[in-house]
Amino acid sequence: MNTLKEISTHLLVLGGGPGGYVAALRAGQLGVATVLVEGAGLGGTCLNIGCIPSKALIHAAQEFAHARAQVGGSALGIRISDPHIDVAQTVRWKDGIVQRLTGGVATLLRKAGVQHVQGWAHIEDGKTVTVRAPGDSSPSLRIRCEHLLLATGSEPVELPAMPFGGALWSSTDALSPDVLPKRLVVVGAGYIGLELGIAYRKLGAEVTVVEAAQRILPSYDEELTEPVLQALQKLGVVLHLGCNVTGWDAHQGVHIRNAQADEFALPADRVLVAVGRRPRTQGFGLESLHLDMAGRCVAIDARCKTSMRNVWAIGDLTGEPMLAHRAMAQGECVAEQIAGQVRRFEPRAVPAVCFTDPEVVVVGPTPGEARAAGIDCLDASFPLAANGRALTLQASGGFVRVVARRSDHLILGWQAVGQGVAELAAAFSQSVEMGARLEDIAHTIHAHPTLGEAVQEAALRALGKALHF
Ligand code: FAD
Ligand code: NAD
Repeated sequence: MNTLKEISTHLLVLGGGPGGYVAALRAGQLGVATVLVEGAGLGGTCLNIGCIPSKALIHAAQEFAHARAQVGGSALGIRISDPHIDVAQTVRWKDGIVQRLTGGVATLLRKAGVQHVQGWAHIEDGKTVTVRAPGDSSPSLRIRCEHLLLATGSEPVELPAMPFGGALWSSTDALSPDVLPKRLVVVGAGYIGLELGIAYRKLGAEVTVVEAAQRILPSYDEELTEPVLQALQKLGVVLHLGCNVTGWDAHQGVHIRNAQADEFALPADRVLVAVGRRPRTQGFGLESLHLDMAGRCVAIDARCKTSMRNVWAIGDLTGEPMLAHRAMAQGECVAEQIAGQVRRFEPRAVPAVCFTDPEVVVVGPTPGEARAAGIDCLDASFPLAANGRALTLQASGGFVRVVARRSDHLILGWQAVGQGVAELAAAFSQSVEMGARLEDIAHTIHAHPTLGEAVQEAALRALGKALHF
């Protein structure tokens, strides 16, 4: 006899990360009967163990580094003696921000009339899902739906020789440290490895980064990552590039093999393994739908539809770029279609920001990528050393770069590296989405003194009319 409680809904969303909760929220706002099933915490990776907690830790580390930089006197005339940090309190502060934001998501969903079900979903077919409450071994609820939205996100890639646990940290462990390690080895010089590696160095750990590629942040243009490389060297972060990790033991540490096949060990109290994330496709019956896949990701079209009618997919589950704002934008797009609107997910650019110190921002193609795509383009950079605001912030390293089509000056992309440049991402994305030309930006009055003036100056320079360079 079937003892499962059954409910029906128009839209069923699996996963309450930024993709899933935004989709549910918009659908609820538009009057679509919506159920959202989440097995862990509302807000998903982003709010609980990703974007937000990492940026909180990065900020705390930056504040501590600022305080330490004033010890013994500084150029600014500030004197501080013996600052120290209570990392347990830092973690409590970070957790408070997470609770506030995840609680806010629950309130928003409630206000929009979305039914939130706490539990792990298992797909029976494209219109039926069972849900098991956390901790239970069997399901207690069956949900039937007209539309199924898959938003189950991603999970960290584990190295077979170094499974997570104990001293071997995933990013989740690094965001709630049990101790501040004296020696931290970071495997992977990508987003997480460098964002958190720099934060731990600023918190006082000796940090060594091992990267398989020949350079840091290999997915970014080298001119952009050069100032980050210099900053790492200045901070005293030790880099082993072009090296492979072969294993770990508590006595010797992390075993490494370099390009010359030399083997050595790096002693470590903790090891952060950050070698990428993979879509979460297993363990919940997804394979039973026999959806078309794109490698390990669920394949979708420009409307975020999968190969099965009325089954949609968004966010990290659908592959790169695995970024929260892409997941959110896709979620909104799907919800509006289910509510009857005509929408497509075809952004001209998805901004990417790496919160290293200095920060790196990329919107649209770099000059190299544009030329490789056969576009006749021009590009120009403006150094932050010539920007007054950057000097007053002691942030004069780095530059802002614009890429535009030569024929009509249509702006294709922007890139920047420097302290505080993450906030320029909005201006960059708007100009690209709105089809701005170099003249539009060059003739817009930008407030003085702001880093934004470097955006205007880059456009002026591309037109051969830079004022302050
Ligand atoms: P997720 O956020 O992963 O959410 C998926 C949810 O689905 C999870 O809550 C999971 O519990 C739930 N779920 C999975 N399976 C089931 C099931 N069977 N039943 C019920 N629930 C299920 N991106 C940025 O844009 N900016 C950043 O600064 C940034 N920093 C990051 C820092 C770190 C340390 C990490 C790890 C990631 C960071 N990201 C950042 C990436 C960002 O977190 C992800 O791109 C984003 O969370 C993806 O959203 P999503 O909704 O696709 O999936
Ligand atoms: P990543 O892809 O950014 O970097 C992984 C790095 O590990 C790469 O440089 C890769 O060459 C290296 N690597 C792979 N295997 C290795 C090995 N065996 N030994 C040594 N190095 C190895 O991945 P990540 O840092 O784990 O982050 C995962 C994803 O999370 C990112 O791709 C991004 O989508 C998202 N994220 C975004 C932000 C942000 O937007 N600011 C921050 C953190 C994470």
